[in-house]
Amino acid sequence: MRAIPSVERLLQALGPAGLDGLPRPAVAAVVRRELTGLRAAANGQDLPAFDTILARVRGALDNLRRARLQPVVNGTGVLVHTNLGRAPLAPTAVGALAALAAGYSNLEYDLGPGERGSRAGYLERNLAQLCHAEAATVVNNCAAALVLILRHFTRGARRKEVLISRGELVQIGGGFRIPDVLAASGATLREVGTTNHTGVADYAAALGPGTALILKVHRSNFYQGGFTAAPAAGGLAALARTARVPFAEDLGSGALVPTERQVAGLAHERTPVEAVRDGVDVVCFSGDKLLGGPQAGLIAGKAKTVAALRREPFFRALRCDKLVLGALQATVDLYLAGCEGEIPVLAMLRTPTAELRRRAEQIIATLGKEELPWRLTVTDSRAQTGGGTMPRSSVASVALEFDSTMGGSGQLTANGLAARLRAGTPPVIGYVVRGRLRLDLRTVFPHQDETLVAALRTASAG
Ligand SMILES: *Cc1c(COP(=O)(O)O)cnc(C)c1O
Repeated sequence: MRAIPSVERLLQALGPAGLDGLPRPAVAAVVRRELTGLRAAANGQDLPAFDTILARVRGALDNLRRARLQPVVNGTGVLVHTNLGRAPLAPTAVGALAALAAGYSNLEYDLGPGERGSRAGYLERNLAQLCHAEAATVVNNCAAALVLILRHFTRGARRKEVLISRGELVQIGGGFRIPDVLAASGATLREVGTTNHTGVADYAAALGPGTALILKVHRSNFYQGGFTAAPAAGGLAALARTARVPFAEDLGSGALVPTERQVAGLAHERTPVEAVRDGVDVVCFSGDKLLGGPQAGLIAGKAKTVAALRREPFFRALRCDKLVLGALQATVDLYLAGCEGEIPVLAMLRTPTAELRRRAEQIIATLGKEELPWRLTVTDSRAQTGGGTMPRSSVASVALEFDSTMGGSGQLTANGLAARLRAGTPPVIGYVVRGRLRLDLRTVFPHQDETLVAALRTASAG
């Protein structure tokens, strides 16, 4: 009977190249786990040959390598893809990150008098200006901003009720459900109106001595049609003012530019400026959705409310670190300076399809003379903003389409090719339509075209 090989022997057989940048203890742990699995599976029977065991270990190490956080090429055509890290940062934001990350900064230091200063004061002022609000501040993400707002307005013993339309009790992505967020924040949900039809009068009828807040939540990732009505925010704000109840809006993505003017086919996404103009006390939105910055929860509104939120003891647990603040400051300044075209999400939205088509044809021409196991064509496609924004809109785009059944081998399925591209360095992520893999060029940076060509060559070799 063959003996189980030692961890040491397997590590030696893998060699230093087998580690490929993985820490040795992490590799050893994988090897031990594989051996334990083998031992259990063998159960007194004969063990596989050493080479078979080594191949299994290599497979497990490939999985470990793939689990490492790393850059990927986004060929999905979804601009704000939550699974792929949402918004890529603008070059100046990346520069700010690099400059701040490696050294010290004036994060909480006032360089004038040379003493302790406010955190993110400059960013908060510019953000407020951008939102036409009296004041603004920043926390970790929009979910955190909403929790902070809910906790703040429901902290009293008597007023716990938060009024929300039944048409706005949304779930955003996995695990973020407005009713659950309310419960976790210590608020009591008071549902208003109906699923499809809610008016100001419904809110007025629900007001009472226990009302702590009126909350408007952007539907984000779904839409309603048919017999529907929702009150204008201005009407709700007037009601809230009369009743002396605070009024907050969770805008989700929010957009700092009019989306309908970026590219044909996009709907209008409500902006923080509109929310402020409509009279909310406070509005929150994400930093890494359509805004195109780092993960953050932006809060803008009345000076008194923002100051009170900043004073909440819980604020300290939600505050951003210097890297996020630096990247966000650079992004906000691009908007203020009118240079938002440098923000990748917006630049990608604005790219003319003719330009995408030219790049696609260039890629095909580059690979033209090579023996590849697929037929590569340029096809019209639709790109999406994603990130729970404008679910009804899509943008004309251009994709590379792979018909692998027409190629030499005839064996490579669309999913097989997709898996090969995901296994590359960097991994390339596409999507399959009617049995064919597509790579949408709207979400691929022009400077990645060469990377894409190299990835396709590697994938064609199998
Ligand atoms: C996306 C979204 C959130 C969550 O934002 P994060 O920044 O991911 O925490 C909250 N509310 C709405 C309406 C959203 O669309």
